[in-house]
Amino acid sequence: MMTRFDQISVMVVEDHAFQRKIALRLLDAIGVERVLEAADGEQALRILEAAPAPPDVLLVDLDLPQMDGIELIGHVASRRLARAVVVLSALEPALLNTVQTMARASGLRVLGVLEKPLTATKLAEVLALLQNGAAESRAEEPLDVSESTLAEALELDEFEPWFQPQVAFDSGLVTGAEALTRWLRRDQVIAPDRFVPLIERSGLIDSFTERVLARACAWRRRWAQQGLELQLSVNISMLNLASVDAADRYQAIVLEAGMKPRDVVLELTESAVIGETAHTLNVLARLRLKGFGLSIDDFGTGYSSLAQLAQLPVTELKVDRGFVSGAPSQPRQRAVVEASLELARKLGLSTTAEGVETVEEWQMLADLGCDYAQGALIDMPVPGAALPERIRAWHRPGQAL
Ligand code: C2E
Ligand code: CA
Ligand code: CA
Repeated sequence: MMTRFDQISVMVVEDHAFQRKIALRLLDAIGVERVLEAADGEQALRILEAAPAPPDVLLVDLDLPQMDGIELIGHVASRRLARAVVVLSALEPALLNTVQTMARASGLRVLGVLEKPLTATKLAEVLALLQNGAAESRAEEPLDVSESTLAEALELDEFEPWFQPQVAFDSGLVTGAEALTRWLRRDQVIAPDRFVPLIERSGLIDSFTERVLARACAWRRRWAQQGLELQLSVNISMLNLASVDAADRYQAIVLEAGMKPRDVVLELTESAVIGETAHTLNVLARLRLKGFGLSIDDFGTGYSSLAQLAQLPVTELKVDRGFVSGAPSQPRQRAVVEASLELARKLGLSTTAEGVETVEEWQMLADLGCDYAQGALIDMPVPGAALPERIRAWHRPGQAL
């Protein structure tokens, strides 16, 4: 084995003292020098939170007492407490798939799944993946797919909205969720930045948006049956505003799902609404009339003036995560956040901050009077089936677990 492991750090989370010892010995044997260990999930989180830097790899047994490995991976993923995970388990593949999907959604790499007993060869093979980074670079390549592949994916319902919770600052409760679509293609989970532009170019964007809206509504209905009433946010493309009957079609979809337009907020990027034409304004006004909420996404990245904003029939402003993350220690960023919130207040709009990753950011936004928070501090997007459970696990900062 040519790979050098002396530069990487690994944390082993395993409840059996003997098995933990074996794992540590094997890591030592293949040359891994920086090692942390924990006997359960809570101890692991405490150590990770206190660590000066996240370890490269979390080697975690799924079957742990109290907090199980899946829950632990969820916390590690949403709080970015490690760069990658290796799962140790004897569990069935379907469950492992869920773990992988969950972790990937949060930007955590799953290097692999190792069945016990561990061996030096298995460990070395899986850790070598970290160093060649092959999986990662492939994920960045632009997709090369034809229009017919996209049409087929639509037909096969391969586009699946995942959901990121939105929390009200005043109550600390999850009040809504934003649908963020993934393309589930064979065993891959493809991020929207890689395929939405292709769909926009292909002329399929109207059917795509309607499909996503319908599926998101179906999920919301299922959560409602479990007693969870959430406001739903759905992203729409500026191209969707070109069709005259968009408002009627969206209304029909929402009513069909047993919801009302006022349960749904449509998010549009700032640049889309600012380059507005009389036609765009007309469609926006009709959506508003039917009761849909309208949100300006990525606020701060465009160049809208107060005068332009004031004439748009919008109800919400979302502060771009580029301004939110790091704002507590960056006076200029903080100023943009402050001014955006101030502007929204004057125009009577509600405010959501995107990309809230730390308790400091949360606190700053709460002090500045922001209404809602969305971001890794709370959770990254998760599949609809996982959302209720993830919401139950959420506690606002400062509140005891
Ligand atoms: P967006 O609407 O601005 O969504 C926010 C993005 O930031 C999401 O990326 C989300 O996963 C990510 N994010 C949220 N909180 C954090 C955080 O704390 N830290 C970091 N680093 N990232 C965070 P995602 O899901 O990859 O979506 C990217 C963009 O793709 C979206 O940006 C949206 O513009 C577009 N998109 C997603 N789904 C759809 C869709 O169904 N239709 C359309 N037209 N566009 C969509
Ligand atoms: Ca959005
Ligand atoms: Ca955004």
